Amino acid sequence: MALGKDYATQECSIARALEIVGERWTLLVIRDALYGVRRYNDFLVHLGIPRAVLAARLQTLTAEGILEKRRYQQSPPRDEYVVTDRGVALWPTLRSLGLWGREHYGEPALRIFRHADCGTEIGRYGECPACGTFVALGDVLMVPGPGADRNPADPVSRALLKPKRMLEPIEMDAA
Ligand SMILES: [Zn+2]
Repeated sequence: MALGKDYATQECSIARALEIVGERWTLLVIRDALYGVRRYNDFLVHLGIPRAVLAARLQTLTAEGILEKRRYQQSPPRDEYVVTDRGVALWPTLRSLGLWGREHYGEPALRIFRHADCGTEIGRYGECPACGTFVALGDVLMVPGPGADRNPADPVSRALLKPKRMLEPIEMDAA
């Protein structure tokens, strides 16, 4: 593992949080979970992450109460990973981080996040600037932005091109 598991000399709560979310891929797994990705294979194809790394991240996130493992099929047994309130609480952080990347590194927006009620783009802290309120994540509508690949190779990216509310499970095209 490239990153130490803890920052022993740091008592800062940012350091504490980074022990959990600072590992490579972890925030992207959480991001996908907020988008409504729930299944192992869907994380795998969307992230292009090595299997062992994904398995380790899902295990850590489940142990930390950020994702909850739920059985959705008995035979053969299949589990999905549903983001918990603790994970949802990272949304403003991810929103701010995404805008920071866009503003400082010129990344084009792959996705636009809007308040479902009024259509205004969500602000950097998860608020609706027009309504003046924090928007619950389930009321955030995700639509493709100008940087989105309109013809992506993987089925999860294709599913995410359809406007959808955050947290709602992604709907894959029938194979
Ligand atoms: Zn609004």
